[in-house]
Amino acid sequence: MAKKRTTNGNGEDLVCCSFCGMPASPTDLLVPSAVSDAFICSSCVEQIQNAIKEYTSANATGISGSKKSAASGINMESVPKPKDICAFLDQYVIGQDDAKRYLSVAVYNHYKRLAQHDDDVDIEKSNIILVGPTGTGKTLLAKSIARLLDVPFTIVDATVLTEAGYVGEDIESLLTRLLQAADYDVEKAERGIVFIDEIDKIARKGDNPSITRDVSGEGVQQGLLKLLEGSIVNVPPQGGRKHPEQKMIPVDTKNILFICGGAFDGIERKIAQRLNSHVVGYSNSARKGIDRNNFLQYVAPQDLKSFGLIPEIIGRLPVLTHLEPLDRDALRRVLTEPNNAIIKQYQKLFRMDGVELTFSPEALDLIVDKAIEYKLGARGLRSIVETIMMDAMFNTPSCSVARFDVSAEYALKKLEDANFEVNNV
Ligand code: ADP
Repeated sequence: MAKKRTTNGNGEDLVCCSFCGMPASPTDLLVPSAVSDAFICSSCVEQIQNAIKEYTSANATGISGSKKSAASGINMESVPKPKDICAFLDQYVIGQDDAKRYLSVAVYNHYKRLAQHDDDVDIEKSNIILVGPTGTGKTLLAKSIARLLDVPFTIVDATVLTEAGYVGEDIESLLTRLLQAADYDVEKAERGIVFIDEIDKIARKGDNPSITRDVSGEGVQQGLLKLLEGSIVNVPPQGGRKHPEQKMIPVDTKNILFICGGAFDGIERKIAQRLNSHVVGYSNSARKGIDRNNFLQYVAPQDLKSFGLIPEIIGRLPVLTHLEPLDRDALRRVLTEPNNAIIKQYQKLFRMDGVELTFSPEALDLIVDKAIEYKLGARGLRSIVETIMMDAMFNTPSCSVARFDVSAEYALKKLEDANFEVNNV
């Protein structure tokens, strides 16, 4: 591009910006191109910077393109459809089809809610509650969803929360973590996802035999309600307890998606009671349809109420779904199938040392058997593989081996050598 020049009233030679064509004053900063005879003025640079900022903040919510809702910048065309969300979750989470479907629809509807800009019908928030035994993939589902959506995401534990006045963290501190995940960009945080783990631990005691340590269940639930229903909450930037001099950051929770998870130990009894009382007076055929080995699949809002959640909280968590216990077959798949399956992770570690790592099918079966035997579930798979692989990870980097095969005999010997049995009874 040729350097454009013009002259001012005094006949002085002025260089023009190659972008806007305006002559630059002698005090203007003109940045020359490295490859051609072109210049760009500081005001054009500023405009480009603003355009980039706008573009990246639109992309940060996973959304780009032209047809955006005026209200939110959401382009529904680029939002993944429920089936796409479910297919994405399949890459990371084994089984749990019901939970995946519910989550996919809830997240898709959440986006629709963000995109709505007419006031005729207000789409309500679809916060989610996942009920299922520990180690079945509740956190993993929430994490995977956040990975897909590329929105700020945080996991918080309901057990650290207490009512104001008790030792523990104030409820508002849940949002501190979200703010931190969003680099204190409030607007970004206001579209984030918060996963509240162990929600069952704030159930009201009394009704429920499994709660022993809760001093303030109902008070905490009342506090949580404010967050779930959507209101402006003053968040302490550093978390913990509030104190009067602290400067608070107001955060609107209207568009924050809350996913709650809990094992709800003992809820099966409540479900069974409800189902049994409902079938009283009906013929046996009504009872026949019930799978008595898995009551969790029939979980309903009234069971959460019997467990000790207050009706207002249950009303703010309209999407209720359950996770299945992982059977032998599912555990075997967890080991090898997901994108970041445990076995794939160890194979990668070895590959970085130039070693090809393989496990015989019998060795994999043994790992699953041990996880079941010691009632460790999916969480235990990792510690079992770690124990088996420890010696090999210590030795192989110093040897010049090209492959390492793990047989069932080798795996068993390593578990015995490490006293795995003694350590896990
Ligand atoms: P929780 O239900 O207690 O939240 P997590 O999601 O934290 O359980 O699961 C613990 C670990 O077990 C995960 O990091 C993952 O490695 C494994 N895991 C559990 N369930 C599944 C599953 N359905 N599919 C794949 N991996 C799973």
